[in-house]
Amino acid sequence: MSRFDGRVAIVTGAASGIGKEIALRLAAEGGIPVIADLNLDAANATAAEIKAKGGDAFAVAMNVTDEAQVEKGVADTIAKYGKIDILVSNAGIQIVKPIVDFPFADWKKLLSIHLDGAFLTTKACLKHMYKAKYGRVVYMGSVHSKEASKLKAPYVTAKHGLIGLSKVLAKEGAEFNVSSNVVCPGFVRTPLVEKQIPEQAAELKISEADVIKNVMLKDTIDGQFTTTDDVADAVLFYAAARNTVHSGQSAVVSHGWFMQ
Ligand code: NAD
Repeated sequence: MSRFDGRVAIVTGAASGIGKEIALRLAAEGGIPVIADLNLDAANATAAEIKAKGGDAFAVAMNVTDEAQVEKGVADTIAKYGKIDILVSNAGIQIVKPIVDFPFADWKKLLSIHLDGAFLTTKACLKHMYKAKYGRVVYMGSVHSKEASKLKAPYVTAKHGLIGLSKVLAKEGAEFNVSSNVVCPGFVRTPLVEKQIPEQAAELKISEADVIKNVMLKDTIDGQFTTTDDVADAVLFYAAARNTVHSGQSAVVSHGWFMQ
């Protein structure tokens, strides 16, 4: 028997990067990931990859900032599987600019995807989790939930905010056996980070190699990137929790960048 046998897990942003790895790993341990992503073609490709390996998965089109799309994705999941055991609120973007130049529209867009997205998906799943008296919610934070970097004002603000949301959910969810945690990765080489390397080099007027060595990995203990597998290990740990003992806590997964 595997840890996630029959567990239905909505994973937002699971068509790429960290979310995709989490979906693959959940499926490898018997879980049924619902690949909820803006990019339906890529979500379908992830679901097909899982099914080709003998697992089950369901792709849904979902912009996490759109309440109607979130409600529909959750309703379609309930119609198909009858329950939602796990929510991994992972969808996210990055936009880098100094505060003084940050376009207000980009500030609002980033906060909306990270914070409205986490709120709306949580709210929609909770109704079903409370009824079932079971739920495991994991938010994708960042070392930037604890620490700041230049150029990332809305990202750092949003990622700190997720810790607050998670702590409130830990308190409200406990009587329904719903736990809440935040996983806080260091830099992982996903498309989100690959895009940022030349952007940061241009903003900071340094080379791309310097961005990697002297910005992204500067404070790690060993100069290494975190991997999608490392992050998935931590997410699956919380998603598999036997009870609420760990609820309300967050875990930094970062090769020592920001020691708690
Ligand atoms: P990624 O770009 O590889 O994947 C992000 C996914 O989210 C994409 O499939 C994209 O289509 C989807 N998405 C974007 N906006 C969406 C929306 N409005 N609704 C639904 N889906 C949407 O990025 P990633 O690096 O895998 O990032 C995943 C999460 O991990 C993000 O929350 C990010 O902030 C966080 N994170 C990443 C790193 C890193 O170094 N890569 C570090 C810490 C935290």
